[in-house]
Amino acid sequence: MPSIKSQKYIVKPSDSREWIIIQSNSGLAVDTELRMLDYHYDCQPKQIEVNGEKIYCSQLCCYAGCYVSEDEIKSVEAILPKIKPLLKKDSLELLEKVKDQIFVLEDYDKDEKLYKTRTAPEEWEFSDNDEEKEEVGEKDIKEENESESLEIEEENYEDEEEEKEIPKNHCLFLTDKGLCALHQYYNDNGINWVKEKFNICVTFPLDIRPQDKTLAFMDEFDSFTYFNVDCISKDEDKKIELGMPQIIDSMKYAIVHRFSLEWWEALSAFSKDYRAGKIDLDFIYKEMD
Ligand code: SF4
Ligand code: SF4
Repeated sequence: MPSIKSQKYIVKPSDSREWIIIQSNSGLAVDTELRMLDYHYDCQPKQIEVNGEKIYCSQLCCYAGCYVSEDEIKSVEAILPKIKPLLKKDSLELLEKVKDQIFVLEDYDKDEKLYKTRTAPEEWEFSDNDEEKEEVGEKDIKEENESESLEIEEENYEDEEEEKEIPKNHCLFLTDKGLCALHQYYNDNGINWVKEKFNICVTFPLDIRPQDKTLAFMDEFDSFTYFNVDCISKDEDKKIELGMPQIIDSMKYAIVHRFSLEWWEALSAFSKDYRAGKIDLDFIYKEMD
């Protein structure tokens, strides 16, 4: 198998040319999506102006809550009384109404085995309700589609208009200052938030999977926010002008925590060589072509 070796890394072909296996000197080999080796990103929550209104950009990425595991729910439930003083008034009212249940039971991702956190003041409506779809027969759907086609077109148009509004809902844990209450609690109490905070909120927009030894972008991460925001803009030049670092560097804390500092150093060294045009991918993939 063709490979390229340096002092810090060995790289080998993956299953497709969009990926590459990067191995550190200790032998840890992680299948890595190539496009993240030259992508600028940084999460610096700040106030921005949308439709003439000043909002925190986190209102655009934390508006629908996030998907979390059962273990993560249990950990946060254990500290909920300490988190409550940091929450907005509408989040507290919601928690009282739902008896402190922080997740939506019906919104369960069976494939990933994850629940979604609640949003305040009302629950974010999800459209993927499979059970509801199964209850409606195919014939009914066809008839409904035919008789209501005009209405649906109008609704879609209205939806598009509505999408220009700033989201009214927010994750239960989003504070008045546009920060995550969990993040703030862990920081204030000297607890490592990279270890304790919900995984998806630590690693976004990356999908870091130590169990599979893979590192990639999350699916459709660049359409994740409610409006376009600079941090995941498709315009790399603009992000460079804004001084955003490479994602490998700004997300170092998460990559190191999940894979080790030694592996991050291998990734960093390879990324630099890759961006400098020193890597001959045709050589690596010559047996595949
Ligand atoms: S991910 Fe982007 S939109 Fe969300 S808080 Fe960070 S900088 Fe703001
Ligand atoms: S838990 Fe925190 S970071 Fe995650 S979506 Fe909610 S407010 Fe945002």
